[in-house]
Amino acid sequence: MSRQKDHANLFDDARSRLEDVFEALDVHDDVIERLMQPSLSLQVAVSVRMDDGRLRVFPGWRVQYDTTLGPAKGGIRFHPDVDQLEVTTLSFWMAVKCAVVDLPYGGGKGGVKVDPKQLSRLELERLARGYIRAIADVMGPRRDIPAPDVNTNATVMGWMADEYNHIVRCKEPAAITGKPPALGGSHGRVAATGRGALHVLDQWAKREQRKPEDTTLAIQGFGNAAYHFARLAHERGYRIVALSDSGGAIYSSEGLDPEPIMQQKTQNQRLHDLVYCDESVCIAENVEHLDRDDLLTLDVDVLVLAALEDQVRGDNVDQVKAKALLEIANGPVTSQAEAALDERDVPVLPDVLANTGGVIVSYYEWVQNRTGERWSEETVNERLAERIESQGRRVLERAEAESISYRQAAYRQGIERIAHGILQRGNCQDSE
Ligand code: NAD
Repeated sequence: MSRQKDHANLFDDARSRLEDVFEALDVHDDVIERLMQPSLSLQVAVSVRMDDGRLRVFPGWRVQYDTTLGPAKGGIRFHPDVDQLEVTTLSFWMAVKCAVVDLPYGGGKGGVKVDPKQLSRLELERLARGYIRAIADVMGPRRDIPAPDVNTNATVMGWMADEYNHIVRCKEPAAITGKPPALGGSHGRVAATGRGALHVLDQWAKREQRKPEDTTLAIQGFGNAAYHFARLAHERGYRIVALSDSGGAIYSSEGLDPEPIMQQKTQNQRLHDLVYCDESVCIAENVEHLDRDDLLTLDVDVLVLAALEDQVRGDNVDQVKAKALLEIANGPVTSQAEAALDERDVPVLPDVLANTGGVIVSYYEWVQNRTGERWSEETVNERLAERIESQGRRVLERAEAESISYRQAAYRQGIERIAHGILQRGNCQDSE
């Protein structure tokens, strides 16, 4: 099966979940009509002068799925598998996600089809700046606000923010979030997605009367979001027994401390290649090496999915033994797999709630940039906890009250808010 086909499935999957919500909520036809396709979809060609003098052109996209509740908000992904359908699906999820946690934003997403590992640092910077020049007409602090996603980070956002300032010939820090603090980035943004996911896990564990020290975790995709989640979960007392990255997985029944492991991994190494314990260093004991996808089938309490979409599917869900799943990545469990998990009473804490920490703190960054304020990390973390816990509680309580899954409850909460906005705009509204 080609990746292209996967992304067609991904979008169909997202649409079918949306149709289920329309049916359950009995929404107005206007709302269905508006939400069945994106508001704006821009394809661009990003020209990059390579270090050896050649010119290369990379295809890219920026999609604004819906902007009823505010300007579009969503990250930019650099990955060889990016295509228009993936970006569209991710922008749809952003629209739902922002509404679930009651942010004054619509949903957007961007991406460039490129393998950034093949680029030098200066080539990467030229690509980042070229992408912003290509989409500058449709972005801005009151129109569409990009942020980091897979293979983009604060450094890349810094280059992009600088390029945007040159284009508009003024300082416009609120146009991009996830920037380095020196350029107006918010304290607490780097760890926010992982921190938010931990609040959601904590809330669920508390309702289940489950103590962190009695809860084992296997974490797929030990990158930015997963590292901060793992670090904070370890501090809280959860037992991390397995980690994976694109090169393989590791397991230790005695538990893994994510911090020293990431310290070694940042020297550009894969988990499989690290030295865990020898005469000179011991960062984890009795580490077993597993094939990458074996992590998905471990008998743990919670399987944490923090890599990419489409990881637990109809063809492998029967091998999943975890008692619950937590989605930090966007769309890692397909609807077919979720139906099978539902039959077995295995709950999924869904992406549209569990990974909202990043966009919540991006919102706080935008607020700080627009008001000229600087909040301490403590204030940011407190406000993040307040919002994700109060909106998360509504989702968990609704799921129980209506006997539906956490995802269905989250979608209903988000789509209800968007639908209300669409109808409040009046009968003669233009599309955008
Ligand atoms: P990242 O690039 O820092 O990390 C991704 C990690 O996944 C890497 O370690 C990579 O090696 C690993 N990986 C890739 N394929 C894998 C596979 N098949 N099995 C195991 N590991 C694999 O990206 P990130 O920023 O941490 O984002 C990860 C996911 O979280 C994405 O789906 C992203 O959309 C989502 N997300 C991230 C944020 C954020 O703030 N970073 C916010 C919301 C959602």
